[in-house]
Amino acid sequence: MSSAAADCIFCRIVAGEIPATVVRRSPDAVAFRDLDPRAPTHVLVIPSAHVGAVRDATGPEGEALLGRLLQFAAEVATELGLDAGGYRLVTNTGPDAGQSVAHLHLHLLGGRRMSWPPG
Ligand code: AMP
Repeated sequence: MSSAAADCIFCRIVAGEIPATVVRRSPDAVAFRDLDPRAPTHVLVIPSAHVGAVRDATGPEGEALLGRLLQFAAEVATELGLDAGGYRLVTNTGPDAGQSVAHLHLHLLGGRRMSWPPG
């Protein structure tokens, strides 16, 4: 984990250098609307510090960060009115999963019925 990575678009969003529609902030995380929404509600929940993917959140610090990030995502879901209908939290890791931005992010998706398994 490091504070910011060069050429990371999500680090630039955290720094306010790239505009984003921020939904909620915590001391160490930011939730903002996905540019290319795949559901009526599609929000990305990211740690403010640069972490490449979930597998990079290691040790006690990573464990605590992942716990806080999940709790924060659940708070965002509540704030956006998703508790009654439910929602999906997804984190893509690596090429097979289609990860396109190398900064850990949870996709918070809701507002429609979703199929399983994902494609
Ligand atoms: P993934 O493919 O799992 O790495 O997800 C990356 C997500 O970031 C995609 O859903 C993109 O639409 C989204 N995305 C990329 N750039 C931006 C941006 N500048 N603002 C908001 N969302 C973005």
